[in-house]
Formats: sequence, C-alpha cells, structure tokens
Amino acid sequence: MKFETLSVHVGRDIDANSGAVTPPLHLSTTFERDADGGYARGYSYVRPDNPTRRALEHCLAALEGGADATCYASGVAASLAVFSLMRPGQRIVAPIEAYHGTHKQLRDLIAPMGVRCDFIDMTDAAKVATALEEPAQLVWIETPSNPMLKLSDIAAILARAHRHGAWVCCDNTFATPVWQRPLQLGADLVMHSSTKYFGGHSDVMGGVVIAREKGELAARLRDYQATAGSVPSPFDCWLLRRSLTTLSCRVRAQSDTAQRIAQFLSQHAAVAQVLYPSLPSHPGHELAARQMQGGFGAVLSFCVHGGQNQAFAVVNAVQLFKRATSLGGVESLIEHRASIEGPHTVTPPSLLRLSIGLEHVDDLIADLAQALS
Ligand code: PLP
Repeated sequence: MKFETLSVHVGRDIDANSGAVTPPLHLSTTFERDADGGYARGYSYVRPDNPTRRALEHCLAALEGGADATCYASGVAASLAVFSLMRPGQRIVAPIEAYHGTHKQLRDLIAPMGVRCDFIDMTDAAKVATALEEPAQLVWIETPSNPMLKLSDIAAILARAHRHGAWVCCDNTFATPVWQRPLQLGADLVMHSSTKYFGGHSDVMGGVVIAREKGELAARLRDYQATAGSVPSPFDCWLLRRSLTTLSCRVRAQSDTAQRIAQFLSQHAAVAQVLYPSLPSHPGHELAARQMQGGFGAVLSFCVHGGQNQAFAVVNAVQLFKRATSLGGVESLIEHRASIEGPHTVTPPSLLRLSIGLEHVDDLIADLAQALS
C-alpha cells in the first residue's frame, strides 16, 4: 500500500463495539484482569501499553517502513531512550551541527554516565571515515540538520558504522517519511520529534523511535519505554494519530511553498545566503536529490547581510510569520536561532530559520519582502 493509504488506514480499524469509523479515545489507565490473572485482551496498565498508543505506534512503524515503534512524551524523551541504551565505556559519534537539545543531552546527561560522545562534521566523508576507524556503539545522524539544513550521506555513514557493528539512528524530523526513509537505506533506528510535522498543528508534544527490525534493539526500547515511563498521554496519541491522516498533503504543500520562498530569498539583495537543499548552490543539493524522495522539506534558513541586529530587525518587521520557536505546524514561523541555542551554539548570528506553514505562498513572500525592505 502507498504512504497516503497507510496514513489513513493503519491503526484506524472500525471499532468493534460501536462501529465508529473514527477510533475511540481510550483514557482508561487500567484494564480488567482475566479470571486466571492474565490479560488475554492484551492490555494491563496504561504505561506499558494502551489501545490508543498502540494504534499510533502501528501507523508510525508503517509510515517509516519499520517493524516496531515506541512513542514518548517528547522528541527529547525519544532521543534519550536511544542514548539510554548505551553503557559506560561505549562510544557515540554524533554531528557537530544538530538540534541543540540533542547535544545538550549528550553533554549533560550521557557523557557523565561514562559514555564517550564525539562530535564530528558528518557532511565530510573523510571525517566520518576517521571517526569510525575506532569502534562506536551508536552513530547519530540528523539530516537535513537543524537549523543549518546540512546534508549527511546516510548510506555512506551506514556502510562505515555497520563495519564495527554500530547502531545507526537518524533524526528524520525535518525530512519526514514523506521525503526520506532512512530505514530503507539500512538505518537501524529512526527518531522523530512528533511535536513537529506528525502533530502538524502546534498543539501536541511527542516523540517516537522506529526500529527497522523486531529484535534486541526493538525489545530494549520497548522495555525502556515502560520502565522509564516518559510516555505520551492517550489524548496526545489520539491527536497525533488523527494528524497523520493529513501528513502527506501538509508536508507536500508546505515543501512546495518553501521551495518558492527559497528561490525568492536567494535573489534578494538583503540576503547573504539561503540554506535550503533544493537550491543548486546548496553544498548538499546533489546528495539531497539522491537521498530524499522528490522533496526537500519545509524548513529553510537564511543569513541576512549585517549580522545579528539586522536579523532581529527582520524578525521584528514580519506581520504574517509568527515570531516563535518550533516547526512543522500549519502557521509559518520565523526564529533567530543563535539566541535560543545557548552558549554552545555554532549557528551564525545573522541566521533566521523559517518553518513554512499552509498559508498562500504569495502572502508569505509579500510579508518577507516588506520585512526585508
Ligand atoms: N529533533 C529535532 C530535529 C528538533 O527540531 C527537535 C525540537 O525542535 C527535537 C528533536 C526535540 O523535540 P521535542 O521538542 O519534541 O522534544
């Protein structure tokens, strides 16, 4: 079945009790035991499993082409689930440029547990090769990256990582499975902040890790999910499952608009650089055209001439774009990233990130034009 069909039908069976076409929301925290003490119907307690979360997990596994998915209360709870599989003495290789919260977890939570965390430029094949001459247990990829839209070659990194038996996990939040399927390329795990495109309406928080195969890794994540307990509420799962039905339509429309806006910005005299992989000037353009499936996502960044003050002047002059963090919602957002990423940021002070929503492209371009003028 095709992606759009899966997104409408997996985990959305007709309710056997009522005939409801839209799945009911199961808020119950506990489930009846059988006379022999068992749970023949498959559910015991809300934290390890519940019908609403299970439906969402089935659908997410199908959309990424994986065997199993575990959902969490946020994107950072999902990445922490993966990092928590590491043991003292093991090594993680991660990109220098990635979502700043991922770096913070590695620096502040994982390294102090005795796990070595090495940050490298994942866009540079030679640096990847050198870093992976030494054994690692986990290689973390984020492509396109947040907020610089850097491209990493998933298949090439995988080939090197798997030589040592390292697991590879790809943060696929920016691309979404509409445009990129790391598991099909051989990645072991895919991670998402579901707060972004999966939710799609800036009103629900969540995260997910999808495993390519059922096996040790998937079983350890399933056990971690129930033991650590940072799980999403049934209502959040229900909202997410509902939003997945429109994921492909939203992401395709948002990405088309992003492409038009990138072209507009790349010709504007006030703009020094546009970071968006559809542009032939982007250093990862050819890789993106090969690795992504016909689209480049709906987040782009650009640097203005003149530094941080000029960037703030633009942010403060927009009228339609909302001045806010996050991405993937129906409304377009603009954000000065360096000032939110903390002291370890590698983001240029002149950089602004745009998350493109579902407004008409002409209105968004008009807003940017007046702000840049
Ligand atoms: N990964 C990426 C690429 C992100 O952009 C974010 C949040 O912005 C996260 C992970 C963390 O997700 P959450 O905010 O849902 O915890």
